[in-house]
Amino acid sequence: MAPTSSRFTFSEWPPALSEAQLEDLTLYATTYALSHSLLYLPAVKPQPPVPNSAIHAPLSVFPSPFPRRLFSLARRLQSTYNILYARIATDVNFLDKVMGAIEGVGKVDDFVGQLWTGWKSLRDEGLVQPLQLGLFRSDYLLHAGPNNEPLSLKQVEFNTISSSFGTLSERTAALHRYLYASTSYYNLYPDMKPGDFPPNDTTAGLVEGLAAAHVAYGVKEAKILFVVQAGERNVFDQRLLEYELLEKHSIHVIRQTFDQLAANATVDSAMRALRISDDTEISTVYFRAGYTPTDYPTASHYSTRFLLERSRAIKCPSIALQLAGGKKVQQVLTQTGVLERFLGTTVPAAQIDELRASWMGMWGLDEEAGVHKAREAAERLVLKPQREGGGNNVYKEAIPAFLDALPPLERQAWIAMELIVPPGLGGYLVRAGSEAVKVDVVSELGIFGWALFGGLEGDVKEKEVGWLVRTKGKDSNEGGVATGFSVLDSLLLV
Ligand code: ADP
Ligand code: MG
Ligand code: MG
Repeated sequence: MAPTSSRFTFSEWPPALSEAQLEDLTLYATTYALSHSLLYLPAVKPQPPVPNSAIHAPLSVFPSPFPRRLFSLARRLQSTYNILYARIATDVNFLDKVMGAIEGVGKVDDFVGQLWTGWKSLRDEGLVQPLQLGLFRSDYLLHAGPNNEPLSLKQVEFNTISSSFGTLSERTAALHRYLYASTSYYNLYPDMKPGDFPPNDTTAGLVEGLAAAHVAYGVKEAKILFVVQAGERNVFDQRLLEYELLEKHSIHVIRQTFDQLAANATVDSAMRALRISDDTEISTVYFRAGYTPTDYPTASHYSTRFLLERSRAIKCPSIALQLAGGKKVQQVLTQTGVLERFLGTTVPAAQIDELRASWMGMWGLDEEAGVHKAREAAERLVLKPQREGGGNNVYKEAIPAFLDALPPLERQAWIAMELIVPPGLGGYLVRAGSEAVKVDVVSELGIFGWALFGGLEGDVKEKEVGWLVRTKGKDSNEGGVATGFSVLDSLLLV
């Protein structure tokens, strides 16, 4: 397979630049970024209510090499993942068992428990909107294995809420295409050709998903609500979706924080229409907040979430779909027969096998045997709780002491996952206000997709819509761009 990738040596990437070349490329890159909305708000607290300056997003000067066949595989898997997570989100019994507060993770994890309990009482009352929208991102690393086996594609996690960087990743791909078009990267890697830079139209794709939900809701003049965090610095990534909705679909967006919604949102008793400030009806609620406990500092923040959930508006995601994205679900899927239960009757066995081959080994810590195995294998493991947004995992040598301190009752909230071992690779990374630095890196690929589902016929409307690469310094375990450990990047297919 893939003779081109066997010629490529990852450890020799990136090509060596002279100081002058690196200075030039950095200037071209940052100027392009500033000219094309590849932006962040500066790190000041508090954020001024009306922003008056921006900085370029952290970025990589070169794209990261990626085997063409594994990129195709990742894109191909996305439709199956879209369908899989749609089915999980509509399997109430499964979610109760795995994530619920009576039997599942919600019993020991307060955040999961709060969300599940609120969802359960809304279910008992009767929910009125069967449709759900997911804007997903499935994340992968290349896996070289401990003995430098042929590279394979391994899934890190599947995100069902607030999957970010769709619009900025599109712009980062365009940035690298521009650098190549304008400088040919000084012919330092002569094999490079235009076809090695894959297209990335994530903005249009994600917005198509939001627009599909809006149309399904069926009230033309309704608006889409973006639920956002106060002080968010990644606003341009969100605003670019808003502009596309208005320009291409004539759909208006309202941005509100949970605090604003507590004052402004109402659900009428007859039709359960969600309205903001009494007049504007909402077709679709798109959450770019609400994925972390810090978004719910008081009980009334949960009440606001449940008010939205109770409404007829289509939620992206529903609480069910948010719970489906739990790391515990990812682990339970690896148990015998579970994947078949969701996909067995409709997806060919070869496709199911391909999906399963993208997983690392995972197990729960619910039972003593799992804890024991995690201690034994600590050096090649990561432990994960039911959290999103980076910075929550426990790695390798920190695991035994962590397990010593973890109250046995809380073990159920954690999973053990084998570490993916990516190939050695370098990069030139640039942060606003600093010179580019050459460091050893790890590049994580994300594939975006959307799914609209939950209607009576059980069909899933879905699509794979683009990709993202985030690159982090190798010495950092975690890779969140927003948390400052990593940069936006793109792909060079090899
Ligand atoms: P979050 O939802 O907080 O983003 P992730 O599961 O993506 O949680 O973990 C955060 C980061 O930790 C990933 O971006 C990746 O850099 C690293 N990581 C997670 N799982 C693995 C793994 N199995 N092998 C290697 N690195 C991992
Ligand atoms: Mg995540
Ligand atoms: Mg992640």
